[in-house]
Amino acid sequence: MGKKCVYCNDRVGKRECPALGGLICPVCCGEHRGVEIKCPTDCRYFQRGEKFQQEKRSEPYRKAWLEHNSDLLEEENYRLLNTVAIVERAVYLFYEEDQLLTDDRLITGLTELEKRLKPIEVPTQSLELTEFVHEVISDLIESGKVAKEQVREALARTIELAKDFSDGSRGLVQGLTGRVEEDYDLPETGEGEEIEPRESIITTPNQLNDYR
Ligand SMILES: [Zn+2]
Repeated sequence: MGKKCVYCNDRVGKRECPALGGLICPVCCGEHRGVEIKCPTDCRYFQRGEKFQQEKRSEPYRKAWLEHNSDLLEEENYRLLNTVAIVERAVYLFYEEDQLLTDDRLITGLTELEKRLKPIEVPTQSLELTEFVHEVISDLIESGKVAKEQVREALARTIELAKDFSDGSRGLVQGLTGRVEEDYDLPETGEGEEIEPRESIITTPNQLNDYR
């Protein structure tokens, strides 16, 4: 008889859980890691599960993204499509530092940033994700690479899609980051200032044709 799982105290614990300091059963590990259990992100079970979920959710996220932005694709509004991609990549860079990011924190963080960019000043909260994405984007606005108004619109679109796509846990984070990893060029250093808007990263003509 093996030791009981430190989480459910019912099934047999099989995996060493660094967060709980004991043996956890694979079911509890799979269901609760990264959410109820604050995993150290270097845990191999967390890493493996995360990668699996990103691969699984990237395609549905891509599909939802194309649907949400079909009007922009139709209009060939690459300027705004690129700005959406800039927002998503900034989120990805944040995620690299904070892999336990949840859908709620992602949505709230971007919503606060959208408020901050309104022409009229409204009170906003200072959240880590808000500050991070704001810093990346401010540099681009100041250097004239993107317009503030475009960023606000890109944020509104990203938030709308995010709310639709979220499973209330981490499904959105996994879908978005999985998609960014597969489709976008990412700076190797993770430095925000290296982000450059580029038309080709959004949709190749083929992808556009596939969608139509
Ligand atoms: Zn268990």
